[in-house]
Amino acid sequence: MFEPIIGNQRVKDILRRMLTARRVPGAQLFAGMDGIGKKLFALEMAKALNCRAPKGVEACDACPSCARIKSSRFPNYDNDEANREKIIWSEHADVGLVRPFKNIIRVAAIRELEREANFRPYEGAARLFIIEDADRMNEQSSNALLKTLEEPPRTTHLILVTSRPGALLPTIRSRCQTLRFAPLTAREIEAHLLRDKKMPNAEAALRARAAQGSIGRALSIDLESYQEQREAMIAVLEALTIKPDRVRLLRASEELSDAKRKDEYEPRLDMLATLIHDSWALALGAPIEQAVNSDIRERLSRVGARLESRLASLWLAQIEQHRRGLDVNINRKVATDALLLGMAEGA
Ligand SMILES: [Zn+2]
Repeated sequence: MFEPIIGNQRVKDILRRMLTARRVPGAQLFAGMDGIGKKLFALEMAKALNCRAPKGVEACDACPSCARIKSSRFPNYDNDEANREKIIWSEHADVGLVRPFKNIIRVAAIRELEREANFRPYEGAARLFIIEDADRMNEQSSNALLKTLEEPPRTTHLILVTSRPGALLPTIRSRCQTLRFAPLTAREIEAHLLRDKKMPNAEAALRARAAQGSIGRALSIDLESYQEQREAMIAVLEALTIKPDRVRLLRASEELSDAKRKDEYEPRLDMLATLIHDSWALALGAPIEQAVNSDIRERLSRVGARLESRLASLWLAQIEQHRRGLDVNINRKVATDALLLGMAEGA
């Protein structure tokens, strides 16, 4: 049943229509950002095609076939050399998955897939193989897959899953029917965290808003460091607007460029841009639900009161330009000083 999967109603409708018409393509490409349920949809298709007591065209979710597909774990073999060239089978003999081993999908795994794709189903009505992070196929693997994509048997279905469809060979893309998945809305994510994860209200709200459309991110984000980043960046905005303070900006720049926090540099820049967006939107009278950081609306509104549209767009442009220069700027500290002082000059 597609219904319990959150979001992407349009995709659900399309897949249902395929099942109703009994025209599920032999090769599909599920494209969209990470953490929005692409693989879940693929497994749902595997269930629907093999269900022994389907409800209409959808899986019953209860028969032995559905139950086995549902309980599949697809363990991660990244440190297990013996398994790097193999299909990872589900609990169901007709449903398997290939995924990168240390970032690359090996040609031997694709060759095994090619062999298995040619067999008739063992126990169900269809064989379904998922290729996870399909963009991780190297040239050899891609070429090996082309043959299978050309004419899979009628009872075999391949679903390539990727967040970077542009990184696939055009010849692979053109042999697949592409379905685009949309990021989830904060509201959809929040509802899921409350209903299925039984999360406290405030935490669900914060995670949903910080998730940028991805359930995976909503669940994995480190809230403490998220809040720390946010605190640091709103302090920068306050030092730019409410209480202009160059010394504080230079100190913030130092903190931002601290080599020990290299991984946090870009997330913090993102945060700064989001906070500018939020303050600006609030100043323009946008409803509070549209702000990512609606839980600190008062601080944002105080900043927003000093923020003209001209200034907000200037700052966002300055941050964007700075970001583009990050790869070439050898001295990050000097570049960051220049960014923050440049923003102060515009104010
Ligand atoms: Zn079933």
